[in-house]
Amino acid sequence: MRRPLFWCLVAILAAHLALACTKVPILGRRQLNVIPDAIMLPIGASAYQSTLAGLKLAERGEQHQTVQQVGERIAHAVSGQDFDWEFALVRDAETVNAWALPGGKVAVYTGILPICSNEAGLAFIMAHEIGHVVARHGSERLSQQLAVLGGLAGLYLYLDNKTELSQEQQAIILASVGVGAEVGLVLPFSRKHEREADVIGMMYMSSAGYPPQQAIDIWERMEQGGSGSALPAFLSTHPSHDDRAENLRDWLPNAKRRYERNKLDRDTTSTLWD
Ligand SMILES: [Zn+2]
Repeated sequence: MRRPLFWCLVAILAAHLALACTKVPILGRRQLNVIPDAIMLPIGASAYQSTLAGLKLAERGEQHQTVQQVGERIAHAVSGQDFDWEFALVRDAETVNAWALPGGKVAVYTGILPICSNEAGLAFIMAHEIGHVVARHGSERLSQQLAVLGGLAGLYLYLDNKTELSQEQQAIILASVGVGAEVGLVLPFSRKHEREADVIGMMYMSSAGYPPQQAIDIWERMEQGGSGSALPAFLSTHPSHDDRAENLRDWLPNAKRRYERNKLDRDTTSTLWD
């Protein structure tokens, strides 16, 4: 190969990789992300619609209102990002779960409210989910699965509603973005993504005026809730680790400073749900 051509190819490849690299907010980790938002957003929006279609939603009432207000407050704290936020409360007291999809679609199940216990606890769970969205974890996971799907062409087939993709390939897409249980495939989030969403969530909840100590307390309640025969769904996709609260404690002083600057002038830690 002639040298100028070689360097030209190297330059093109480097430019492509630089474009494909994004940065995780707050933590600054560089991630390889080959799927542009223009592809991820429609996947998130359509998975949101089809998943919610099979669930019973709360469309009014105090709990519904609290979920909307907390979600909007945290979304407001996510500065400089262009997401189309939507928050749903699923009426399902048996399911201890919450999830988020690319583009800013968040669902909370009534079954997780007793573990949230109060508004600040709910703020952490929602901010953790929002953390997954803002850090583009779904798209990073899907980037890692692209080979299985036959590359970006496979994703385009999915978006065009063409049937060439196997059931398993479609399941991989949904599982990567976070709603795999609906199609029988659950990909657990990696420990790295969980730790990131915890830290980002604790920072965002603090910016939104909620006390960050709740982020640490909630893991204790979660473990207690999971000590019975059935493991909460949230824990089956969100593996718990001994060092999880420890990871948050390192960031607590920083989060407290944010909270002090932004704190709401009312108590958000009194018990609402038990
Ligand atoms: Zn998570």
